[in-house]
Amino acid sequence: MSAAFAAKGYRVVRTAPELRAAGTDARLLGLFADDDMAHAIDRGATSEPSLVEMTEAALRVLDRGDGRGFVLLVESEGTDVAGHANDVAALVRDLWEFDRAVAVGLAFQARAPADTLVVVAGDHETGGLTPTLARRAGGSNVLISSGEHLEMIGRITMSISRAAAVLGRAPAPDAVDALVTRHFPGFTLDPDLRDAILQRRTPDLNFLAATEAALSRMIARRTGFYWASSAHSGDPVVVGALGPGADLFRGWRDNTEFGRALHRLLAPR
Ligand SMILES: [Zn+2]
Repeated sequence: MSAAFAAKGYRVVRTAPELRAAGTDARLLGLFADDDMAHAIDRGATSEPSLVEMTEAALRVLDRGDGRGFVLLVESEGTDVAGHANDVAALVRDLWEFDRAVAVGLAFQARAPADTLVVVAGDHETGGLTPTLARRAGGSNVLISSGEHLEMIGRITMSISRAAAVLGRAPAPDAVDALVTRHFPGFTLDPDLRDAILQRRTPDLNFLAATEAALSRMIARRTGFYWASSAHSGDPVVVGALGPGADLFRGWRDNTEFGRALHRLLAPR
């Protein structure tokens, strides 16, 4: 596929340094991973650009100053993937990254506020994240989330998906312990969770993978950040819009209205 794009005059880039070197080439195709791109928490081990770098590069290419305008879709897929893996540490890092990408869009909007609409939306919540409640021993529910727990989450250095991939399908007990010590400092696997990884046991049908579920539960028991499932949830999502037409996105709306609203705004007058 990349050869077909190259034949049409596209510059094809595969790594962050190549993207940086691309400048303002009018036709640019960036392909940085064969499957999902890495979570921000894992990016150090790859040559992938960040969402911010990709957003800036796309704006450099698209903002030709010829008055024709453009549509740019920026998606942080990592937040959904982190939700599926019930991975609060990867989720927080990817949300911060998304936040910085939004800032790039808002800075662009501030330079041409009469001509630029920025819409920020989630397509759905994933995992049923429950950040405030943990049932502790004794049978009573106790609010336990605190700054200390967020700091523990901040010290995690690997996504749960990558940890599961590194451990593979039949990890040795020593390998499980060493990975937790190295990448999840301050956490310990309770015996039932350690056994669940070694015996590939998922807690219930609504959790998809044994290792992911066990590591997520390890973090939840210590910090209170629990998850309801490995699937998409029915929670409403927050939407923000700034610029001409922003009022069309105000209030309580069905998600199918968004496409119609964007069509209306883009239709030639
Ligand atoms: Zn999903």
